[in-house]
Amino acid sequence: MSISMRRVVIATKPESSWWLDAECRGVDPEVFHPDPEIEGSDAEAKAICQGCVAQEPCLEYALAVREKQGIWGGLTEIERRRMVRRRRRAAQRV
Ligand code: SF4
Repeated sequence: MSISMRRVVIATKPESSWWLDAECRGVDPEVFHPDPEIEGSDAEAKAICQGCVAQEPCLEYALAVREKQGIWGGLTEIERRRMVRRRRRAAQRV
């Protein structure tokens, strides 16, 4: 999702959604789209997510819609992909 699309998602969330409690409301969306080539560029976003009460539903939302860009629920795209793989493996063991 592009930065501008993130703004649309934010703007169209119903008032009863988890987004209402998000720590990132009002924060420049660019913060959540760090340059993966720059080590540590995700630190600011992750610090914000760490203290967010909406972290779990935010992450589940990103996983559900297969969000490909940006930090959601405190995880980068690569970290979310790893989580999906771990969940798949765990489900196969059951
Ligand atoms: S977990 Fe991070 S990206 Fe998700 S709503 Fe909270 S602050 Fe925003």
